[in-house]
Amino acid sequence: MEVTLLGTGDTTGTPTVGCDCDTCERARDPDDRLRDALAARGVDASDGVERSRFSVYVENEATGETLLVDVGPDFRHQFLREGVALPDAAVVTHVHFDHLDGLGNAYRLFDDLPVYAADETDPVTGESVAGGIRSRYDYLDTVSVHPQTPYEPFEVAGFEVTLVPVAHPPLLCYGLRIEEPGTGAVLAISGDTCYDVPDRSRELLSGADLALVEGLIHAEACDHHPKGGAHHDENGVPRTFGTKHMTLEGARDFATGIAPDDYRIVHTAHFVPAERAFADDIAVDGERFSL
Ligand SMILES: [Zn+2]
Ligand SMILES: [Zn+2]
Ligand SMILES: [Zn+2]
Repeated sequence: MEVTLLGTGDTTGTPTVGCDCDTCERARDPDDRLRDALAARGVDASDGVERSRFSVYVENEATGETLLVDVGPDFRHQFLREGVALPDAAVVTHVHFDHLDGLGNAYRLFDDLPVYAADETDPVTGESVAGGIRSRYDYLDTVSVHPQTPYEPFEVAGFEVTLVPVAHPPLLCYGLRIEEPGTGAVLAISGDTCYDVPDRSRELLSGADLALVEGLIHAEACDHHPKGGAHHDENGVPRTFGTKHMTLEGARDFATGIAPDDYRIVHTAHFVPAERAFADDIAVDGERFSL
């Protein structure tokens, strides 16, 4: 399994349009120390560092098929930048803009793009993620939507994929367990979530070769959130920022709990101070992994 991180940022991405904070400036113009650190991770940062909207490209080396996880608004830029082929199928975790609103790119690019998403009805929206995709993109007959039941593995692109319920109120959202049957390689993706992930889901995300765990922001930022933080650790550090996302500290704790061979924090915002924003365990676009 070959994994390419197409997009590793939050809903505004890094750099953020119109922002001149230290983190966005450091991303636009990395110093030598950051360039060298990223080169060691296989990323060429000579034109800057990017965390575009979340999207992951997964290649099945046994079958040659490819799967896209989330279809973000940076789709065109990401595919051109990474030079990867169009995917054979996609899975969408939830209906937020930064994970879905690139699907309009399917127009003219695909004869058929099968999109897999959860079938359970969200009490808030009155429709499932699959239903939400169908109704938003009903004009795109090249997109076929394939509803799937959470916790029940299904096969796509030669992978065994399981939608794993997480906690991203008020919307339903799903993490993913993606297993390549031939090699047993496993990629775990937490999806957008707070720390309060059900035990059954944590178990399914456990023991992966690589885990991508969402972590939006450093814990101290909870002081400035109207709802503060939640799910504090034994030292009183909030592992959830507000109600919907993990803090960096929460993401690291979550990663420890599910014990992958390796992990990266994804979906990180530009609000993280510049000297902490590019730590080795926080993903940047263009990182690649062979599992
Ligand atoms: Zn900024
Ligand atoms: Zn979200
Ligand atoms: Zn998001």
